[in-house]
Amino acid sequence: MMMKKCPVCNSPGEKERQVGKYYLLKCRLCSFVYADATDEQIEQVNFNFGDLVKCHYREVQSSIDVLWFERISRSLTQGKEGLKVLDIGCGNGVLLRQFQKRGCVCFGSDPSPWAREYAQQYGYTLLPRIEEAGLAPNYFDIITTTSTLEHVARPIEHLKHIIAAVKEGGIIYLTVPNYGSLPICLRLVKGRLVDPPGHCNYFTAKTLRNLFMQKGIKEKISHVRVHSYGIPEIHAVYRWFSKKIPPTAHTNQSHKPKRTFSKKALINIYYWSGMPFGLGDKLEALIVKK
Ligand SMILES: [Zn+2]
Repeated sequence: MMMKKCPVCNSPGEKERQVGKYYLLKCRLCSFVYADATDEQIEQVNFNFGDLVKCHYREVQSSIDVLWFERISRSLTQGKEGLKVLDIGCGNGVLLRQFQKRGCVCFGSDPSPWAREYAQQYGYTLLPRIEEAGLAPNYFDIITTTSTLEHVARPIEHLKHIIAAVKEGGIIYLTVPNYGSLPICLRLVKGRLVDPPGHCNYFTAKTLRNLFMQKGIKEKISHVRVHSYGIPEIHAVYRWFSKKIPPTAHTNQSHKPKRTFSKKALINIYYWSGMPFGLGDKLEALIVKK
């Protein structure tokens, strides 16, 4: 069978490594790494996240995530109320609830069968996937998409839809796992981070920047900032650590963190420690539309 062409620049790729029955390919032109899987294989996995994934999210989402999302929502809204926010891949709505607290009008999008029950519970509007939602152009002040683009079979088309839906001067905030992270470079991690075909896109800081340089995208944006952040494998460390703490620590209270000095310090350590040499767990991109 013919190997899949690069979903970013459409050049041929060569085998980079095998994970289970799938190959990861590396584009010969732009070095982007992607799974050799069809759109159908990718969507089959990603559109059917059942209750196991729902429970998994509840388990791995720690008070660090809540603090992290609080920080994101604070820095993106900058005290303004009434902003229209769309979170793509909103899952159980952890990020949207932070935006709701800041007086935003919130919308989510997620193909998981259980996404609707969270939208109803927390009172934000659930939209169809952005490719099919028929959204009015230039509508949202902010679009966030955290840990989602690695699941999307056609990242260029997806990004074009996002850019079209955001207002002129509006913000797109995006995070993906970092394929250039320390544990992946040392080949210590498979599982959660290198998991085709569910994860079909494997960005490094370089290939993520290159995504925003593609025709039809770069003309529409005025500013892009990309860098790595996050202590590598923080969730593994946290899960090990949280086993040492009585389970009562995981209640609804964890969604209302008191912004104490130590928690602020913790989240700053988490954020900045992934910065040196681009080896952090995650990549973030902040994009401003022209
Ligand atoms: Zn390419």
